[in-house]
Amino acid sequence: MITGITVKHKDESQVAPVEDSWRMSLASAVRDPKILLKMLDLSWEEYQEKVYFPDKFKLFVPRSYVHKMKRGDWQDPLLRQVLPLTNELRAIPGFSEDPVGDLKAELTSGVLQKYQGRVLLVTTGACAVHCRYCFRRHFPYAQSSPDKHAWDNTLATIKADNSITEVILSGGDPFMLSDARLQTMCEQLSAIPQIKTLRFHTRIPVFMPERMTEKFITWMDSLAVQKVIVIHANHANELDAEVAQVLHRLNQSNITLLNQSVLLKGVNDSVDTLAHLSERLFEMQVLPYYLHQLDRVSGAAHFEVEEAQAKNLMRALRNRLPGYLVPKLVVEISGKRSKQAIV
Ligand code: SF4
Repeated sequence: MITGITVKHKDESQVAPVEDSWRMSLASAVRDPKILLKMLDLSWEEYQEKVYFPDKFKLFVPRSYVHKMKRGDWQDPLLRQVLPLTNELRAIPGFSEDPVGDLKAELTSGVLQKYQGRVLLVTTGACAVHCRYCFRRHFPYAQSSPDKHAWDNTLATIKADNSITEVILSGGDPFMLSDARLQTMCEQLSAIPQIKTLRFHTRIPVFMPERMTEKFITWMDSLAVQKVIVIHANHANELDAEVAQVLHRLNQSNITLLNQSVLLKGVNDSVDTLAHLSERLFEMQVLPYYLHQLDRVSGAAHFEVEEAQAKNLMRALRNRLPGYLVPKLVVEISGKRSKQAIV
């Protein structure tokens, strides 16, 4: 949906330009578990036994993603990533609200530095989906975000440190910002002499490919720095023809594409699933980069795969795939100066 495609409103006589279609997708996203289950022919009565209506971090999923799920299947790997369950309410030792030490790593509002030469900007708290295992599900976005008022401070902090050569735009999802806001941020960052690379961590190409308009990609391609987009796909079923079309277009530009996944129980904790994911990504010219062991965030313990099983999966994956299709299994430990490889 990136060129020459229009989107019809309810009134068939009105046709929205493609630039607006992603905002319509956001407006029509599913927020009510009852509606989600109805769309999937799943029984509400059955769900009520394990229901969870969170006050914060509520269900939020675009309809196009729901359409990729298998109807009538509680175990669908895409459904499991978005459906709030009562399991999230269990307090489990070792799981916390800030599992990777984001708050300790904050240099100034919304600017995190954990590793040499790079800083990460929490650009927004908004996402196109609420992933139930998200390690920032409790992050205090209202207080910690380089919003317009703190932006000058952010720029000054980065400019003052010549060792910073790469800025990672994260969130939330940086592609949830308006074109105008993101352009201002990126152009000002690119103008800092020592900045060589802008990296974007995003699920938007997978969850809302219509946001990746031709105008947006052309602008991004024109930025006078190296660009890396790290998408986040956990299962091959997420990568349909629309996603492929956007990734193909990105591959025609000067943007490096990588994928990061999270190893999730009941979603992708099998060799077949991980192998299919890598193969599907490669068909779309995206290299698998990281497979993250779950960050131990409160509410997500039911997604954790034990380390011994994770190692076995990696051994089997290495036996099955060429090396360039095997992601690195890593874990982030608060206070460490790099991600820790699990081998
Ligand atoms: S898109 Fe990323 S930041 Fe947003 S909820 Fe999912 S994992 Fe968290």
